[in-house]
This record gives sequence, structure tokens and C-alpha cells, in this order.
Amino acid sequence: MLDSQLLKIAEDFGSPVYVYDAEKIEFQYHRLTNAFKNVKKLKLNYAVKALSNISILKLFKSLGSGIDTVSIQEVQLGLAAGFLPEQIIFTPNGVSLSEIEEAAKLGVKINIDNLSILEQFGTKHPNVPVCIRINPHVMAGGNANISVGHIDSKFGISIHQIPHILRIVENTKMHINGIHMHTGSDILDIEVFLYASEILFETAKQFKGLDFIDFGSGFKVPYKAGDIETNIEELGEKLSARFNDFCKEYGKDLTLAFEPGKFLVSESGSFLTHVNAVKQTTSTVFAQVDSGFNHLIRPMLYGSHHDIVNISNPNGRERFYTVVGYICETDTFGNNRRINEITEGDVLCFRNAGAYCFSMASNYNSRFKPAEVLWYNNEAKLIRKRETFEDILKNQVEVDFSPKKKVAVSK
Ligand SMILES: *Cc1c(COP(=O)(O)O)cnc(C)c1O
Repeated sequence: MLDSQLLKIAEDFGSPVYVYDAEKIEFQYHRLTNAFKNVKKLKLNYAVKALSNISILKLFKSLGSGIDTVSIQEVQLGLAAGFLPEQIIFTPNGVSLSEIEEAAKLGVKINIDNLSILEQFGTKHPNVPVCIRINPHVMAGGNANISVGHIDSKFGISIHQIPHILRIVENTKMHINGIHMHTGSDILDIEVFLYASEILFETAKQFKGLDFIDFGSGFKVPYKAGDIETNIEELGEKLSARFNDFCKEYGKDLTLAFEPGKFLVSESGSFLTHVNAVKQTTSTVFAQVDSGFNHLIRPMLYGSHHDIVNISNPNGRERFYTVVGYICETDTFGNNRRINEITEGDVLCFRNAGAYCFSMASNYNSRFKPAEVLWYNNEAKLIRKRETFEDILKNQVEVDFSPKKKVAVSK
């Protein structure tokens, strides 16, 4: 969609506002399915936590996607969006046995990443099929914060513990229907991914009744010029061929599953803010916008880069700005950025704001969470209202501290 259309949305819906381009989401979905067209059975399960608005979930449902969920609430959200239980996979980490049992009762696919829980679940519910999350100990990315395959990760069951898994399966007679890995959100290198996949295939051979192998996600999308992007087409070609060979060896056409979040929604999103003030200090020109890390925390949390564009003045002279928020705390969105000349009241657009942006928003400083708009069929549709003061007070319980009359106590 065009920046002029974004500008119109900022005028019509106010700011701050998140805007998602449905066409871009569809494009990414089809790009991924197309890359794996040579696989007989492919299943994409969109990772809900990236962007969990119910209209976005319904869009994925219309595309034929399933969903990957990490909490019982996300499971319920998926059901509310109309997904059938069998289209939902529950891949939590560190949740209680009872939460997993609750999901199993709803009929969704269960993914377990802990030996203790596996044993307890298998003992109590030997008839419920379970997928197991393996940690192949492959550190795919450079950023230790988001690479989860390394040896000390809290995610997955170590490949070195496969004998223990097999013993649990034999003792409980439980049925393992899938093998899963998710090596983190930072896969730079196809070769690393293929290497981890080999470990998954080796593991899969040990389980006779599989229906699917889930390769997780971790596809990299470019956030700025020059960023590395996972070459999905090349990965599709190489992994498909290898997967098809494995299926022959295994003696069954398994389903190849992925659960991408960022790849599917990141680039569809724009975050629009108005500039409250331009502030010149001795060394810096600050552009202060009507938002902060309460609405978009990735730059402060991960040091992530989001391109920032002045869509009100696209042809203005370029100058250097440090873009900051209005939170009473350091909340820098971008340091020393080259941006077309900014005047107070201009609309700044943060690119790639589809994944892990609204879904991580908070009410810090007692600010309202932003509105969300979906751009669909050349029309802007409101998919979440901006919060109001009632939302801030909702669930708060007031204690009455007014002086009480003394009550006579009988002796
Ligand atoms: C977060 C998550 C994903 C999605 O990761 P992206 O990097 O956004 O694609 C997939 N699977 C699991 C288990 C996750 O926790």
C-alpha cells in the first residue's frame, strides 16, 4: 500500500495507530507455500504471538493456514476465530501440566518440550497423541537473546536425551505423532537450517507412528537496507528434496510443517505516529512522537531497527534526527537517522511493524494501547479500537481510605 494511503489513515483514525496490509500477508503466505510446492503435504501454522488480532487470525484461516499457539488463551483466541481444534498446535514452554491437559481436552495438537511433563502426560493420557519438541543444539543466529537452539536453552528436549524419551514412550505406551524443532528467530544461513533438519530426521527415524515433522520457524526478514533475508525459495527447493527422500525412507508421506510469525506479518505492518515536538539540544535534534516503548518495545528490548519515514514530507530535505517517545524514561526509537525534514505535526511511519509490536504493547504511563487498522481490498477497516479511560480503570479495585467512624466495642 502507498504512503499516501497510510497518511490518510493517520488522519482518519488518529495516532498512534498500527496498520496491516492484508495483501502483503497473503503474498508472504503464498511465497512460502510456493517454495515448498514439491512437498505432497505441507502445513503452515501461523505463530499467533507475533500479531494476535482476531481479524488477522481470520485472514490466515481464509488462506488455509493453521495456527501455532503458546498459551491456552491463544488456543481460545484461535477457536474464537473459527479454527478447528485440529488446525491448532499448542507449543508452550514452561506451562503447567494442567494447562496442557486443558488444551488436549479442547482437541488441539499437543507439543511437549519437557521430559517430566512428557512422562506425567503420557502416564495419565496414553491415548492422546503428542508431538515432541527437540533441541538440536544448533545456534543459528548471532544474537544469543533469540537463538534458542544452544546447549543451555530452556526450549526443547535435548537430542542427548532421546533414549530417555524412548523409555518414557515404551513405559507409557503413548503415541508420538510429530517431531518438532524451533531454533530461534535468527536463522541466517540455509546450511545451518539444513544441518539442524538432518538431526530432526535422525530423531524422526526412532519413532514409528509419525504424521508430521515440524521445522519451526526463524526465517529472517530484512528490517533495513542490506539486511540478510532467508532465501525461502532456495530453502524450499533444498529442504523439499531432502524431505521427500526421507519420506521414502520412512515409508510414509509425512506432513512438513512450519510455524512462521515474523516472516508472514512483519513487513505488512506500519506504525503511524504524530510528531509532538522537535527539540534541538546542543548536539542533537530530537523528534518526539506521540508514542513510546509502551507501544513498540523492540528497539529498546532487542536493539531492533525499524526504518522511520516522514510520510508527511516525502520530498523534504534530509536531516539527522534522533526519534524518541513520550514515555518518562529513555525510549529511543532510532538514533541519528536521516529523515526528510520534520515539522511538528508530521506523521512518522515505522516500517516492519507487523510482528511483535502491537502484541507486546502495554499501558505503561497509563497510556491507551493504539488502534489497529487492516488495509483490505483497498479499504481501511478498523480491527481494534483505541483504548479509552475505562480500559485503564477496568479491573482495578478501589480501596476506601476515608476516615471511618469509631465503632463502639462492647466489653
Ligand atoms: C515465536 C515462535 C515461532 C515464530 O517465530 P518467528 O521468528 O516469528 O517466525 C514459531 N514457533 C514457536 C514455538 C515460537 O515460540
